Amino acid sequence: MVTSIIDGKDYASRLRGKLKSAINDLKDKYKITPGLAVVLVGNDPASEIYVRNKGIQTKEAGMNSFEYRLPESTSEDDLLAKVEKLNSDKSVNGILVQFPVPKHMEQQKIIERILPSKDVDGLHPVNSGYLASGLKGLVPCTPQGASLLIKDTLPSLSGLHAVIVGRSNLVGKPIAQLLLRENCTVTICHSRTKNLKEVCLSADILVAAVGIPEMVKGDWVKDGAVVIDVGINRLPAPEKGEGKTKLVGDVDFVEAGKKSSAITPVPGGVGPMTIACLLLNTLAATCSQNNIDFSDFEL
Ligand code: NAD
Repeated sequence: MVTSIIDGKDYASRLRGKLKSAINDLKDKYKITPGLAVVLVGNDPASEIYVRNKGIQTKEAGMNSFEYRLPESTSEDDLLAKVEKLNSDKSVNGILVQFPVPKHMEQQKIIERILPSKDVDGLHPVNSGYLASGLKGLVPCTPQGASLLIKDTLPSLSGLHAVIVGRSNLVGKPIAQLLLRENCTVTICHSRTKNLKEVCLSADILVAAVGIPEMVKGDWVKDGAVVIDVGINRLPAPEKGEGKTKLVGDVDFVEAGKKSSAITPVPGGVGPMTIACLLLNTLAATCSQNNIDFSDFEL
């Protein structure tokens, strides 16, 4: 089977282009500029890169970007007070606290302090509740990006068997909900699943969100399946030079690609969709806070 490579980089760039023109329209028509606030506590190098890229792409889309860098020693109470302040700031439509936060803070407490209407990461229980109930709310960015790529690849998802490997609140569970909404038959697998290979072999759509490099092998993939690799794992790459690293997904891309009809690469697949969907959520949040019909924009 000749597989096609699902180009998330290209899709994300087209989405950002459409968002930019929607934001222009919003400014012209309603004199509103969406604002996204990102809070980073500490100086985790990977988080620094994410936050920098978020800031760049937010501004490129024509939104206001507010970045707050707090020292590692910040107390949980001070972070919660910062979130409260952003909750009541009218120029801020979306709030994202970059995770992981330092160990002395409780992630869930921070998630729950963000106003659900500004929770552009879609992690507040109110938003996950909306998603689970099939209602409108803010949906986590990476799952939303994965779902957009799947819908762009397949003409119809109705009745297809989707197998999701991974059940995190951040990725696995929301992807399952989104595919259920598209009338897939959904199976969620996790670390205790028995006969994982056999379950994966029954998938028309196979999504890997585990965090184990190349765990999903070629012979776990049914002929013609669509394979979505959410995993991002950094491995040493001595072949590229001393101290160099490379990114690999949770799927053995070469072998799985011999069986699939379409597959996402790592990097360049689901990864670039995350920030594009964060911008999409910020626009959606802005519209909802201002009683503007989001569906007016062609996205
Ligand atoms: P997580 O650690 O929270 O969850 C991993 C899940 O995998 C768990 O539900 C666990 O039950 C399951 N699991 C672990 N070992 C397993 C095994 N042997 N067999 C079957 N299931 C197993 O991770 P996460 O936050 O959901 O992230 C998953 C992957 O997605 C990671 O590689 C992460 O880097 C990546 N990720 C990418 C993006 C992006 O593209 N921007 C965003 C978030 C996460």
